[in-house]
Amino acid sequence: SFLVLDGQFYTNRLEFARLAADYKAVNLGQGFPDFSPPEFVQDAFCKAVSGGHQMHQYTRPFGHPPLVHILAKFFGRIVGREIDPLEDVLVTVGAYQALFCAFQALIEEGDEVIIVEPFFDCYQPMVKKAGGKPVYVPLRPVSVEGSAVPSSGDWVLSPEELASKFTPRTKAVVINTPNNPLGKTEELQVIADLCIKHDVLCISDEVYEWLTYDGNKHVKIAGLPGMWERTVTIGSAGKTFSATGWKVGWAIGSEQIIQRLKAMHQMSVFDCATAAQEAVARGFEREYELFGTPESYFQQLPAMLHQKREKLASCLGGAGLQPVMPEGGYFMIADTSDFMSTDDEPHDFRFVKWLIKEKGLATIPVSAFYSPEHRKDFDKYIRFCFIKEDSTLDAADDILRTFS
Ligand code: PMP
Ligand code: GLN
Repeated sequence: SFLVLDGQFYTNRLEFARLAADYKAVNLGQGFPDFSPPEFVQDAFCKAVSGGHQMHQYTRPFGHPPLVHILAKFFGRIVGREIDPLEDVLVTVGAYQALFCAFQALIEEGDEVIIVEPFFDCYQPMVKKAGGKPVYVPLRPVSVEGSAVPSSGDWVLSPEELASKFTPRTKAVVINTPNNPLGKTEELQVIADLCIKHDVLCISDEVYEWLTYDGNKHVKIAGLPGMWERTVTIGSAGKTFSATGWKVGWAIGSEQIIQRLKAMHQMSVFDCATAAQEAVARGFEREYELFGTPESYFQQLPAMLHQKREKLASCLGGAGLQPVMPEGGYFMIADTSDFMSTDDEPHDFRFVKWLIKEKGLATIPVSAFYSPEHRKDFDKYIRFCFIKEDSTLDAADDILRTFS
């Protein structure tokens, strides 16, 4: 279940995807919707490919002009500042490539990079590949008196512990809000204050930015005073418009930072798919006009996911797998302590394999989102993805009912 790269072991999530396919399991593993994107972006894509010949040829390497313009306008309104579409925005092959370009461009040999745990699992190998040294700071669950249902909000960063991780070698802090796998919406001011105090960059992965629940609001760290100049904000059309296969993402930040990412982009992929960018641009143009109204997809998608979150939480609770309610994103972690076994392999890895092979339900072990140092302390949780058709969640429920 591990992949070896440069003598380092990395968790191989592909193995779980393969197992899920082999066993034809009900798939609440990898994070993608099992339904189509909204019609307005599908129509925009069809229109793009049936339009002129230009849509089938290269576009501007750093981003299709209509897309960078609407991204600058959209995010400029949110952070309350002018964003230059040609200098401050880079379109990438999904958020994944934006992350890769950011680490390659900004991290040098020996730089320390603070990563909040649990973290989206590519951060660690990407930091190492760039020559950096990951330094981890965990979100820790605190027990909250009188709260019946655990929430991702109960997982907190200790400001003192975070502060203690900064050294003269610290180059950047990586955050992911809302977080994958936990759903935590990060407490940003303490992070921002430390970034400013130590003159450190912030790489902020905000691919689930539209998905928050229970009145939680997504806040962009780039919009806090003193942070624009030092932040790269990363987003994904795959998560924004439920179209993960289009692989359109972006990085937004000051010209000085983005120009360094552009150099990496130019050396790696040079240009991204034109028609997909055109469709994403049309999608954002529509959303710009409808922003904050009930017709907006950025209102409708979280409303739909809120119901799915409730549905999954009640199935898991009934099966004795206590869920941690996410404040955002589309994943939920659940506690498997009642099913503990003893073995050399981390408990959650074993449990996930058992769940796929014996029960036909695919999930992801949460210790895969931890550094090897901390993995064993967090191996009682598994992650469920709930951006799935109700029929898929019902099929999962049928399986979970066999637990009690
Ligand atoms: N960051 C996080 C936190 C993710 O969960 C994902 C997975 N979608 C990505 C980045 C990569 O996004 P994309 O599919 O746009 O490459
Ligand atoms: N972001 C999705 C997830 O966390 C998919 C990315 C991946 O499979 N590496 O499951």
